Amino acid sequence: MPESRLVFQPDTQEDLVRFMAENAATGRQRLHAIGGGTALGEVPAGDVMQIRLDKLNRVIDYPARDMTITVEAGIRMSELTRILSAENQRLPIDVPQAEQATLGGVIATNWSGPRRLGCGTMRDYVIGISAIDATGRRFSAGGRVVKNVAGYDLCKLLVGSNGELAIITQVTLKLRPVPETSALVGLTFDSTRQVEAVLARLMNSATRPMAIEVLNPQASLNSFAEPQSKRVLLCVGYEGAEREVRWQVETLIAEAQPFEPRSAKSLFGSDAEPAWAELTDFVLSGESPAARSPLTFKASLLPSRTMEFLQLAAEASVSAKAHAGNGIVLGHLPGNVTTAVQAAAILKPLSELVNSRNGGLTVLRRPSDWPITEQVGGITAGRQWSERIQQQLDPLGLFRR
Ligand SMILES: Cc1cc2nc3c(=O)[nH]c(=O)nc-3n(C[C@H](O)[C@H](O)[C@H](O)COP(=O)(O)OP(=O)(O)OC[C@H]3O[C@@H](n4cnc5c(N)ncnc54)[C@H](O)[C@@H]3O)c2cc1C
Repeated sequence: MPESRLVFQPDTQEDLVRFMAENAATGRQRLHAIGGGTALGEVPAGDVMQIRLDKLNRVIDYPARDMTITVEAGIRMSELTRILSAENQRLPIDVPQAEQATLGGVIATNWSGPRRLGCGTMRDYVIGISAIDATGRRFSAGGRVVKNVAGYDLCKLLVGSNGELAIITQVTLKLRPVPETSALVGLTFDSTRQVEAVLARLMNSATRPMAIEVLNPQASLNSFAEPQSKRVLLCVGYEGAEREVRWQVETLIAEAQPFEPRSAKSLFGSDAEPAWAELTDFVLSGESPAARSPLTFKASLLPSRTMEFLQLAAEASVSAKAHAGNGIVLGHLPGNVTTAVQAAAILKPLSELVNSRNGGLTVLRRPSDWPITEQVGGITAGRQWSERIQQQLDPLGLFRR
């Protein structure tokens, strides 16, 4: 996390309202919300007041029978999971470094992991939100009722707003029951072309996967590791009742047989947990490729084009993993890339491929002095907001990066 002398850490939402109103009226210090600090790719330059939200971590209301919870946004994801699991419920969003990451950060980044295919994203779970705009005005949208779509949908606007429109202080979530069990099947293949054929078959599978993840040879998982293998790994995840999950795993393996996988391994229940965690933490954890990589990006493209992209990434030694059912690829440049010029040379063909398929490539993290977005056309470093939205929520430009 960046060091700064300017830090404000509110104990209550009221403290934050007061601070922000005063700031807008007098100091007009630029503001940067910080949850767990796990996703701070793009820290604003210059003197910026860090608003640390981790003390806003209370449970406001948990009517478990309604399957909703209202909490403050600074709650750590691991703590939220612990509270919900006591009622056999969960928020099925996979978040790396859950001990650190906060709910507000997950909502602001709209982060999602392998279960996105079967469970959706934060937009599907946030049913009420309270936030404070740059002038210190508190506003709320939605509520505890699960069906709530009247008027302009501020809930959906703030999910993915990246701390650039308002500070999220309180959230009501829709919950799901914890499934009886889960399983992950790892199948390895010699080429992305073979995996492409399996994915086409999966579209008509008798099974209902929760997750379909494909990793190129630079990105293999310990849980399914074949030492020195240069293979492509397809991971398919299931959740549900024990019998149903076992049947789906057997069916999938039978469906994949004609494509001649080099290996097939299934993990069930608690044995599958480390593999789910590895798939989730692919972004950055101790020994992952990202820990040594200078730059991480996310590409969005048609699901049918993801294998072509993974192949191109592999040829450039980029460690890449696709949420193949959603057309999202996360990639880490290799650790031996040390200059912006080298990085740009690798990203250019990847960006060209994505853009020629009407997709997009976003750099998530990079050294702050690498002007990648200027060097390579078609790459973005964040979301563009309309002038009108910014004028309404941040007329003084205090959240602008
Ligand atoms: C750009 C990017 C880079 C990532 N890099 C990594 C990585 O290197 N390692 C890793 O493990 N995971 C990474 N992730 C995934 C990350 O772990 C999740 O997005 C996580 O949910 C972030 O939670 P946090 O509390 O740590 O957020 P923070 O890192 O504290 O904040 C992330 C963003 O959300 C904003 N924000 C935080 N809280 C609030 C709030 N209450 N209201 C409004 N805005 C808020 C911040 O201003 C910031 O822009 C990345 C995700 C993204 C989008």
